[in-house]
Amino acid sequence: MRTLEELRGEMNYLNHALLALLSKRARVSTEVLAVKQRDNLPLHDPARELAMLEELAAANPGPFPDGTIKHLFSEIFRASVALMEQGQAKGLKVSRTRRAEPGVVTVGAVRIGAEPVVVAGPCAVESPEQMDMVARDLKRLGVTILRGGAFKPRSNPYAFQGLGEEGLRILRDTGKKYGMVTVTEVMDVRQIELVSAYADILQIGARNMHNYELLRELGTVKKPVILKRGFSATIEELLWAAEYIVGGGNEEVILCERGIRTFETQTRNTLDISAVPLLKQMSWLPVLVDVSHAAGRTDILAPLARAAIAAGADGVMVEVHPFPAVARSDSRQQLDIEQFAAFLRESDLLTGMRLAANDS
Ligand code: PEP
Ligand code: MN
Repeated sequence: MRTLEELRGEMNYLNHALLALLSKRARVSTEVLAVKQRDNLPLHDPARELAMLEELAAANPGPFPDGTIKHLFSEIFRASVALMEQGQAKGLKVSRTRRAEPGVVTVGAVRIGAEPVVVAGPCAVESPEQMDMVARDLKRLGVTILRGGAFKPRSNPYAFQGLGEEGLRILRDTGKKYGMVTVTEVMDVRQIELVSAYADILQIGARNMHNYELLRELGTVKKPVILKRGFSATIEELLWAAEYIVGGGNEEVILCERGIRTFETQTRNTLDISAVPLLKQMSWLPVLVDVSHAAGRTDILAPLARAAIAAGADGVMVEVHPFPAVARSDSRQQLDIEQFAAFLRESDLLTGMRLAANDS
């Protein structure tokens, strides 16, 4: 009989032999990934896994029962798929591993990603007077990007749906008058051409982050896109959504964290502040934080904006209306001009904006 030391020695040898084989198998799976990516095939192929398990069970010389062999090999398959998924994430065009330098989206004189920006304006464009009043004050306070929805995605089908093309015209004219960059939402592939003719930046709302046909189409458009995170979308899903646009040829994508749905009821959504450094770490795309849709209230926006900037955000989005009480949508979360001026003072944004202005 062999000694325990001899047996242990052989076990160690076999462990290393298994390890070498597992590593060799893993390297082959990365080659499989390259072929699958080239041919657009799914990473996970359950039918093939099942066939391999049956084949291995049939060839099993024992003494492990077939069930144990199948269990061990399905773990190996799972690990290989996980490895391929990691490889795929690193291979995304939006991934930081593909580009070390942070991306900068230049629109007119505004450089999103290079200096802190504030996107402000009402939830919806309601009239020329409303836009003129708000834009005049926003401009005076140093805001460079004017927002305002013309096509509004409303949960209630009977609620105000926006002014449509008339709203686009008002937004464009107001932006022109005050020399501000404009952004507004596109909800459907059929609206892209129309909205592109009026606005400088297209916004994809939270409800449309999973509208893959729309995202794919935006890949062919020559306008920057602010892509908002879906209410229930993971960070990875947001990056995949951005990949649809960037992969289609439009690299001017700006990510926007706007809060996610949780069990908390004090705020409309929960601002996922960890998303900011994670997105910056995982991707080279600029990141904005929409504090208004995250909070759904007006009294905590300055600390949220400070947190966003401290976490590395490239700017914030805030809803501002000349008369929030009578706003036709999101009336409870819009700041009036006085509140917005206080918001700028209380957040670190003013300093950031001044610094950026002095730089240029
Ligand atoms: C908006 O910014 O106008 C909007 C509707 O926001 P979200 O898509 O994040 O809900
Ligand atoms: Mn709104």
